[in-house]
Amino acid sequence: MLVMTIESSCDETSVALIKDGRQILANAVASQIPIHRRYGGVVPELASRNHIRDIHQVLNEALDDAGLTLDAVEGFGVTCGPGLVGSLLVGIETARALAFALNKPVVGLNHLEGHLTAVLLEGDTVKNPEFPYLGLIVSGGHTDLYIVRGLGNYELLGRTRDDAAGEAFDKVARMLGQPYPGGVAIDRLAKDGRPDAIEFPRPMWTRKNFDFSFSGLKTAVAQHIDAHGIPEGQQLNDLCASFQEAVVDVLLFKALNACEAHKLKRLVLSGGVACNSRLRQRAQEACQAEGLELFVAPPSLCTDNAAMLGPIAEHYLQLEGDSEFVGHTIRAQSSMPLGHSERTPAR
Ligand code: ATP
Ligand code: MG
Ligand code: FE
Repeated sequence: MLVMTIESSCDETSVALIKDGRQILANAVASQIPIHRRYGGVVPELASRNHIRDIHQVLNEALDDAGLTLDAVEGFGVTCGPGLVGSLLVGIETARALAFALNKPVVGLNHLEGHLTAVLLEGDTVKNPEFPYLGLIVSGGHTDLYIVRGLGNYELLGRTRDDAAGEAFDKVARMLGQPYPGGVAIDRLAKDGRPDAIEFPRPMWTRKNFDFSFSGLKTAVAQHIDAHGIPEGQQLNDLCASFQEAVVDVLLFKALNACEAHKLKRLVLSGGVACNSRLRQRAQEACQAEGLELFVAPPSLCTDNAAMLGPIAEHYLQLEGDSEFVGHTIRAQSSMPLGHSERTPAR
């Protein structure tokens, strides 16, 4: 099936064309990072306004890249949540309008489910896992551990009790006067720093559960800055490397424990923080040492994009999209559970 997927949950406007839930024919992304940077984070009103401005152009770009016209599209998938409601609405109304005009089915999709299954797409640099796998979502708003038994079939093992990993990166970067998105800046600065220079806490460093907490670590960095001032040069690099190491330690400790506890042999990292070079390197080493297989999508499929919705869009269209137009009950949801059991038929 040839499916058009649309993503506008935060500050990326993206449209992709995916064949059979695996093959990426196009994945056009317009990022609003430069617009939000001057405010140090995403401004919801600006985000929705810019989605409206960009969506047509991104859609045309995707069609051009794939060398297709709209009548080739057999179904639509669109992010319904979680995300900023005003931003989500732009993608949702675009998908609904196109589906209605072309008389094709449309399914609403969960953004996190997209992150979690992006690694099932085909690509030169993507290695696809078999089921089941342990999926760690590390993104701007989430730090969740799931057992993925199949498309639509997930079991939540644990999640952050306060800040998400990406949020911690962004907030720490802000304290250090670094530009949004902070994870990118910290990753870069940390490359020349010593990860053992400052001893930051490893929150929730326990085998008892698979939950995370990053707000205490963020406070520890704030206290360090209060005591020593905003560092520069080598000290800035050292602080970034030490903070990053604490985050990576906790993420991998929990993920590897979860693999062991649930006898899973495959680990999948997903979401924007999965771009982090230290996390990728340490995950590779740890998985090798433990006899696990590691799967991480290329960075362009880890940060927000519409192609990552391809596998689940195909899956839910096959299950739910048989009627002529099923999109009239799709609505934006700022928070949204994921998986089969949570879906209400969209008709
Ligand atoms: P969610 O997916 O939870 O709704 P989101 O869509 O805003 O949140 P993503 O786009 O998946 O989040 O990821 C963005 C996050 O990834 C930001 O917090 C950003 O700082 C972080 N990030 C991006 N690149 C890196 C990197 N190299 N190292 C660490 N963090 C990074
Ligand atoms: Mg973003
Ligand atoms: Fe995301």
